[in-house]
Amino acid sequence: MTVNLNDNIYNSTLRPDEPKFKLWRNVGLILTYRCPARCKCCYVFSSPDADGPDMSTELALSCWRGVRRLAGDAGRVHLTGGEPFICYNQLCEILRQARHENLGGLQKIETNAYWCTDTGLVRERLTELDELGLTKLQISTDIYHQQHIPIERVKLAAKIATEVLGEDRVQVRWRDFLENPVIVGDLSPDQQVQAYQHALTRHRERMQGRAAMELTTYLTKKNYNEIAENICGSGLLGAAHVHIDGAGRIFIGTCIGIIAGQISKGPIKDLDQFWKEFDIHNHPVLSILVKLGPAGLVQVARQAGFEPHYGYVDKCQLCFEVRRFLFEKKWYNGLLGPALCYGLP
Ligand code: SF4
Ligand code: SF4
Repeated sequence: MTVNLNDNIYNSTLRPDEPKFKLWRNVGLILTYRCPARCKCCYVFSSPDADGPDMSTELALSCWRGVRRLAGDAGRVHLTGGEPFICYNQLCEILRQARHENLGGLQKIETNAYWCTDTGLVRERLTELDELGLTKLQISTDIYHQQHIPIERVKLAAKIATEVLGEDRVQVRWRDFLENPVIVGDLSPDQQVQAYQHALTRHRERMQGRAAMELTTYLTKKNYNEIAENICGSGLLGAAHVHIDGAGRIFIGTCIGIIAGQISKGPIKDLDQFWKEFDIHNHPVLSILVKLGPAGLVQVARQAGFEPHYGYVDKCQLCFEVRRFLFEKKWYNGLLGPALCYGLP
């Protein structure tokens, strides 16, 4: 039996006409923060030496079961990172057990194709994953990834994946880039700036993590007062998806670095139970963002000396900067983090 909206503690206090806290239908499992790349567009700070626990099979399956109980057949899981193929054996084990329990609902596995060095290896792994229930493979390719991953590996991944899985089960993000790749290392500094600006015009990135620090220089800024008018109520209340990392931290939507809760502190708590008991208006950080947006956090951070600068590309860049400041000051302990999301030691 699936869960009802009114099973959530916050929803149960609302009048029928007030906006409800939505069911989480889609869970992104961050199997690891480690990644062979260090893309400018990364919404955390993944890199080869990123730390933080990789996700255990037990935690992954618990979350998977939880979203299926929460949303029934509409419950979806995608396996991501960092780069999930770094822990390939673990990836297989999670799929094996999910298949054994007949959980269903796998949406996709994401990869940057770093491991696609040899035709035989790619075919062998994708065949194995197919047998374990892989539904769709998403291959990342863009100007940022290809600073770190040879484009030939992406081409090989796309070719073999299409042969093994069929075209409909391969998502290349972005196909227009794969058809006309731009390798910035070959360009002059001026051409590089133009190439980044062009890429950002075609596909907007989430201005969190490394992207907030390294990509925003290529974009036009809006005045702080204009940005400060934006609140996050509908986005946070209406988010249908969450990400969960190896420490069991839950991040709503793509708001990575704001910890809604941690389901593996002590015995693993069921995700559906967590959702039922979660009152967003009692969360010290998220409640501010719902009502006031990042400008509300700026009001708090001003007490510790934070001053917003003139312009930001969007509210998420402002949110990231003020949260990073508060994290460094050790405010909202346990509700902001981990350090890796803020590029801090
Ligand atoms: S964007 Fe993806 S591939 Fe690039 S560093 Fe982040 S996790 Fe790795
Ligand atoms: S401003 Fe902050 S809370 Fe709002 S959507 Fe962006 S990252 Fe999430």
